Amino acid sequence: MEPALASRMSGFETPATIAMSMRARVLKAEGKNVISLALGQPDFLTPKIAIEGGYQAALEGKTKYPPIDGFLSLKKAIQKKFKEENGVDYALDEIMVANGVKQILFNALMATLDPEDEVIIPAPYWTSYPIMVRFLGGNPVHVVCPEKDNFVLKARQLKAAITPKTKWLILNSPSNPTGAVWTKEDLLALVEVLRINPQIWIFSDEIYEHLIFDGQRHHSLAALAPELKDRILTVNGVSKTFAMPGWRIGYAGGVKRLIRAMLKIQSNSTSGACSVSQAAATAALQYAQKEVESMKLAYDRRRKKMTAAFSAMNGISCNIPQGAFYIYPGIAGCIGKKTAQGRLIANDQDFAEALLEETYVAVVPGSAFGLSPYLRIAYAADDVVLEEACQRISQFVQELS
Ligand code: PMP
Repeated sequence: MEPALASRMSGFETPATIAMSMRARVLKAEGKNVISLALGQPDFLTPKIAIEGGYQAALEGKTKYPPIDGFLSLKKAIQKKFKEENGVDYALDEIMVANGVKQILFNALMATLDPEDEVIIPAPYWTSYPIMVRFLGGNPVHVVCPEKDNFVLKARQLKAAITPKTKWLILNSPSNPTGAVWTKEDLLALVEVLRINPQIWIFSDEIYEHLIFDGQRHHSLAALAPELKDRILTVNGVSKTFAMPGWRIGYAGGVKRLIRAMLKIQSNSTSGACSVSQAAATAALQYAQKEVESMKLAYDRRRKKMTAAFSAMNGISCNIPQGAFYIYPGIAGCIGKKTAQGRLIANDQDFAEALLEETYVAVVPGSAFGLSPYLRIAYAADDVVLEEACQRISQFVQELS
């Protein structure tokens, strides 16, 4: 007999994003010229000013346990950011810092979910949402938002998905994986439904807020609907905006009783976020706006190149995303065909696997995000690398028969 794992571990699979990256790493180790566009992480270096902020803090001895909710200096920078960029006022005790948005999500769900509680998640979704809901005993309720609706959740869909067990609605604009941006009108329509369903918390994941193009504007839900502010958790982090995913800093603004409960969990699990990283994040929020602008310009240039390249491929349709750093092209025209090496493409998983094995380009199938047949392609990579990837994919598609 072996010591057992918890029963909650059954049914947990490695997310497809990680699985594809792992397979890509194996091929790379075998000496193959692999291009991975599977992971959603910026290719840029962390702005120097942020690194210096962390370095100085470490030299000054800020290496003791941090306050559970975050250093006051960082919380003040976040408070200012929420007010000036998002138009939302949070008191300092309504703000907390954690090890990335992932830990904010974990804390929030753990603090609120009872068994069988439902969490409405518009699909396509970031894979961690449903996994974490299930992990904590809740039931994810996926609502498919088709391409014809710009992958955006409509009020009638939200209304139809709500039950007495609904505990949360998770919103993510701009979206991973589609790059979709909810307009002010889209959000206000949802607010109408949420207003008459006072039992629902709203998790507003705004981590891609600065990666927004074509003159679109990001709207924070809490600013649009002040009357719902006490039910909205406004969530953000430095991973994407400041190219700082490894520093692990995320933060949230929300009603005191929810923040307090989340902090109780945090104090007993991680004791808060890395002190050096907090100093780096403080410097980034205060001084790295110029770097954000220049990264945004590069992402926009790449987005245009990628959508143009994919739109020109036979059997692929490429909508133009207005945010984040992903494209989500449809591959319905490739289904049922065979690759040059004789692999049958019965679905998007087959497509992604064959693409990796035959051309050494890693992307993630839409099935991982709850809407097929699509691919999620992260264009957070150098222009030259992206061009090479597009060439290989284009040839792969051309050779399908
Ligand atoms: N939210 C979304 C929508 C994401 O795409 C990601 C990263 N893939 C995260 C949160 C994770 O953020 P963090 O690095 O702050 O944990």
